[in-house]
Amino acid sequence: MYSTMQDVPLLVSRLLRHGSTVHGDSPVVTWTGDGARRRSYGETGARCAQLAHALRDELRIQDGDRVATLMWNNAEHLEAYFAVPSMGAVLHTLNLRLPPEQLAWVVNHAADRVVLVNGTLLPLLAPLLPKLGSVEHVVVVGQGDTSVLDGCRPAVHDYEELLADRPTEYPWPHLPETTAAALCYTSGTTGDPKGVVYSHRSIYLHSLHVNTVEAMALSSADLAVPVVPMFHVNAWGLPHAAFLGGVGLLMPDRFLQPGPLADMIEAERPTYAAAVPTIWQGLLGELAARPRDISSLRRVTIGGSACPPSLMREFQERHGVTVEHAWGMTETSPLGSYAHPPRGLTGEEAWPYRVSQGRFPASVEPRLIGPDGTEQPWDGVGTGELEVRGPWIAGAYYGGPDAGPDRPADRFSPDGWLRTGDVGTITADGYLTITDRAKDVIKSGGEWISSVELENHLMAHPGVAEAAVVAVPDEVWGERPLAAVVLTPQDTAAAAGTGTTDRGPAGSTEPGALRSFLAERVPRWQLPERWTTIDEVPKTSVGKFDKKLLRARHAAGELDVVTLDRYDD
Ligand code: ADP
Repeated sequence: MYSTMQDVPLLVSRLLRHGSTVHGDSPVVTWTGDGARRRSYGETGARCAQLAHALRDELRIQDGDRVATLMWNNAEHLEAYFAVPSMGAVLHTLNLRLPPEQLAWVVNHAADRVVLVNGTLLPLLAPLLPKLGSVEHVVVVGQGDTSVLDGCRPAVHDYEELLADRPTEYPWPHLPETTAAALCYTSGTTGDPKGVVYSHRSIYLHSLHVNTVEAMALSSADLAVPVVPMFHVNAWGLPHAAFLGGVGLLMPDRFLQPGPLADMIEAERPTYAAAVPTIWQGLLGELAARPRDISSLRRVTIGGSACPPSLMREFQERHGVTVEHAWGMTETSPLGSYAHPPRGLTGEEAWPYRVSQGRFPASVEPRLIGPDGTEQPWDGVGTGELEVRGPWIAGAYYGGPDAGPDRPADRFSPDGWLRTGDVGTITADGYLTITDRAKDVIKSGGEWISSVELENHLMAHPGVAEAAVVAVPDEVWGERPLAAVVLTPQDTAAAAGTGTTDRGPAGSTEPGALRSFLAERVPRWQLPERWTTIDEVPKTSVGKFDKKLLRARHAAGELDVVTLDRYDD
């Protein structure tokens, strides 16, 4: 039997129309370092139409053409977010923290025709232009030294001049909902970047989910700060979801260091923010050193890598901010699971659920595949690689303009599920705990040690600011953990002493003392013998611990390692 429902495509232009009319007075605020620029959703809608006209009529952008952005989180980036897909072209968000050769590689792989670039980022783009064969137009957004573009091959335009005097309405086309809308490459933490192409349908459905009570639950009463860059998985879907619900947006632009972020929060009083753990760690340190009023913040979402429970507690207890933990990846748009506690549980009882990676929405189906290839039970014990499928989960990577979809067997199962590369457990009521990335798990004498668990315990020590645990080769056990710790500033001074840190008495941070601290929390055989103190954990282009680099530094003999005898009671 057939249904009698209308078959109306789910399009980004629908989100744009809805936001800019129904929520026309919702604000888009862009921080300028010492103040803010303000626009409304209504004005943003009009400027989106102008941008689409400029791209179509002047730059001759056609359906399916790639328009890249090399931009911070700001009002103009938001305009590109909506205008480019809505007119039928494809938005390619470039990760401005990629090494220059990788940046050139992704532009060429995507065959971008236009690059919209913030003026402050011209020094990054200009030297690459001779290598970017497909780029015909560079559109400069905001102030910057354009002399670096002198003599470059692509035509150079000023964003505001390009938009000026163009019509403020655009006949957004009726596209099939499966049309490509946006392209984002993975950050290449564990290999070459891979292109993930979001469709109008996947973005629309993901946006609906972001605003539900199972996820961020944002409304027009919120002012939300996407600290997560707009070049990183569509800023976790926040800009699109914001237009759906009239959620005010506060954009940090390039002011992402802890000090300016704290100033911005105090001045503009947002209610919600989203970022990776390292940003929040930095903000906590900043607030301890120079307090600001962040009392407007009620909730933050932390994801992108495992959030140390100590960080969640500190935010809650010191600043009254509820931290919500979420798991996802570029390939999952990114929302997979989100950690809200089960019905009726609050306070201490809720913590084990809140620190987990949370539950999946109905639209994302998970399964765990054990080392022997069998599906593991949802009992909180059975451990395996997480595989997912759903309408906003990638089924392939972009193979390039002349190639078809790329489905490497290590990333997609024969029956089409995405292999996430993450290892974990799921409880009977659906709570996911990621114990590691498959590549980071420590395989010691046939048993697996979770690097994440050791790190989380270490980071709960008052004298430890950051800790990364990586596998290093061991003659007897195959692999053993190496703990690389960054001591808190106070503790670096009081090195082996009993100084007081802002998280309480430091106690000794000698390797032996830290190991005894761990011994009360994890099985003895998991305790690291190898320890090193470092100034900072190296980070990837999206702010995650770069364990590949740490392993390489150890292999090259660059780390000063103290080796303790095996633990003996
Ligand atoms: P990349 O893979 O290039 O680092 P992604 O942002 O796509 O960029 O990274 C996704 C990965 O980040 C996941 O596969 C997982 O390993 C990790 N991750 C994301 N969120 C969490 C979380 N809440 N807990 C643990 N790991 C997480």
